[in-house]
This record gives sequence, structure tokens and C-alpha cells, in this order.
Amino acid sequence: MLPPHRHASRLDSPLELKPLPHNQSWSGKIAYLDRDGVLNRWSDNYVNSPEEVETLPNSGESVARLRRYGFRICVVTNQSPIGRGLWDHDTLELIHKKLETQLIEEDSDAILDLVLYSPYHPSENAWARKPNPGMLEAGRQIIEASENNKQEDLKIMYGHQWVERPSESSSIMVGDQISDIEAGRKFGVNAIQCDQTIGIADVIDKIVPRRG
Ligand SMILES: [Mg+2]
Repeated sequence: MLPPHRHASRLDSPLELKPLPHNQSWSGKIAYLDRDGVLNRWSDNYVNSPEEVETLPNSGESVARLRRYGFRICVVTNQSPIGRGLWDHDTLELIHKKLETQLIEEDSDAILDLVLYSPYHPSENAWARKPNPGMLEAGRQIIEASENNKQEDLKIMYGHQWVERPSESSSIMVGDQISDIEAGRKFGVNAIQCDQTIGIADVIDKIVPRRG
């Protein structure tokens, strides 16, 4: 098993979740979000450094609206440049810190609760690499363990090994690629494709009703 990796932490380390806006309690829904072409500008040459991170218009506001509507946010991103030997985990950590900062600058509610990535080369056919659902599986279990104060018991399960799964009927996956949609469907979540040049702002009104 080639497991997902987690931004700035070991995969199964305790996750300290920040409160949801207005201190609302969590109803169990998670927004699984792809990164490039959803939160920040997509590049056919990858995003290779913090300087290349450029959030898409209103992506911070969209993430904030999801959290204000009660979603926990779990980013799930394929990062094969690591497996291809182009750069390393430390570079990706800097990229993700920059992304987090830019989103928060746009809207203080735009917190990424958990960022998971797959560093593997496509030829490795990792369960953690979309279109496989391994990152979504891990994301659900990590967030739920944190919410339920059961992090000490956390043993992340994948595929057929994970038998008793919670319903994902109120969760969503947003991505710009077919592989995102496939991963979402395999996982059993409502998967929504956005325009790669617009990102999450393209579809946010379909997920969170606009007030007033
Ligand atoms: Mg993408």
C-alpha cells in the first residue's frame, strides 16, 4: 500500500481542527477539493515553487462559504513531480503554506482543515493517486477521528479493508479533471467538475445557496 501523504505532518498524527465559523457543530459533511484548477491556477508544467502559486478569483471566498455552510475542507491533490524526481516534499510544503496564506488573506474563514497529497509516479498505480479514492478515504477517517476525539485509536483503512463506512451523501468532491470526478464517484460522493480556468467559484453556487 502506497498511502497518501499529509501537508506538514505525518499522515496519522493528531489533527487540530480549527472551529467552524460561528462555532457551529459539524454535521459530518466534507468538501474534498482538488487543488490546481480549483483553488489556484493550473499549469501544464506543474506548480513548482511558492512563487508560482496564484489563487483563482474568489477561491478564498468560496472555501470560506463552504466552511460557513458547515463543511470541513480536505484538499486532495496528485503531486507526481515528487515521484518524478523534479522536487521534494519540502518544496511542496512551502507551496501549500503559500496557498493557505493566500486563501486566508482573501477571507479569514478560508481555512484548509486538512491537505493530503499523492507524491507517486503514475506508473506506481497508487491507491492514493486519483482516480483512485485513497486520499478521500484517509481524509474522512482523519477528520472524523479529530472531531470525535478518537485520534489515539486511528488506524486508517483503505478499499475493501474498510467495511463500516459513514454515509458521504452530504459531502462533495470538486475537481477540474475527469480523474477527480472518478475518484469522487468511486468513493461515493457527489462529484462536481469545474471549469479549470475559473475554479471553484464556477460551481460554488450549486453547492452553497447564496444568501438574500
Ligand atoms: Mg486539478
